[in-house]
Amino acid sequence: MKIAIMGAMPEEIAPILKKLHNYMSVEYAGNTYYEASYKGVDVVVAYSKIGKVFSTLTAATMIEHFGAQKLLFSGVAGAVSPELRVGDLVVANKLAQHDLDITAFGHPFGYVPGGSVYVEADKKLIALAKEVAQEMGQPLKEGIIATGDQFVANEERKNFIGETFGADALEMEGGSVAVVCDALEIPFFILRAISDAADMDASFSFDAFLETSAQISAEFVMKMIDKIIEQE
Ligand code: SAH
Repeated sequence: MKIAIMGAMPEEIAPILKKLHNYMSVEYAGNTYYEASYKGVDVVVAYSKIGKVFSTLTAATMIEHFGAQKLLFSGVAGAVSPELRVGDLVVANKLAQHDLDITAFGHPFGYVPGGSVYVEADKKLIALAKEVAQEMGQPLKEGIIATGDQFVANEERKNFIGETFGADALEMEGGSVAVVCDALEIPFFILRAISDAADMDASFSFDAFLETSAQISAEFVMKMIDKIIEQE
């Protein structure tokens, strides 16, 4: 089995690479991929760079070129739900692209013909995450994640995304990774630890909490990998 572990920024995969000890760097399609064997299972790790286009390229490459059969994303996000605080973990049950807009033709936000507003994440991986969370005594919120090519630092935009998509958190890669994995029939899991509240102070909060939140998410994802290996 080969598992892909993906982030968007170096800080999001650094804690994962640290756990792998030995890995091989492979340059491909303008990015670096790290291949390793972890507890007898092959893993491929990469950060895509920020946004939907780079994350699409990386997810597709991990699957089509490196042969990944499952994909786990680890990273940080802005909170939409007022229940979520910095450091809290949220796992996506479904994802949408909040900046996809052909509403001028009467379509809903996030929809284009042939696509769907929401893409659902793998239910088995979510169930596994709940087991891991319980064992760790770590609260884990399941919810909707909205993705777009914007760093949201604006209450009005955030509220629009919350109201339109029922989103609990927002970020810049999950929705595109979901489209790739869904199309290629690869079970996927998108986990985010909150770094900010997508409000006026978001960029300051993001800078202050990126590393600690990325670490929380990465640790959880590695526990997920352990659990997947245990159950195989
Ligand atoms: N500080 C970085 C830019 C970070 S962009 C730089 O200067 O290079 C924000 C990243 O974190 C994206 O990968 C996105 O997925 C996630 N994210 C966290 N908070 C977010 C928010 N409020 N809006 C959008 N994306 C957010």
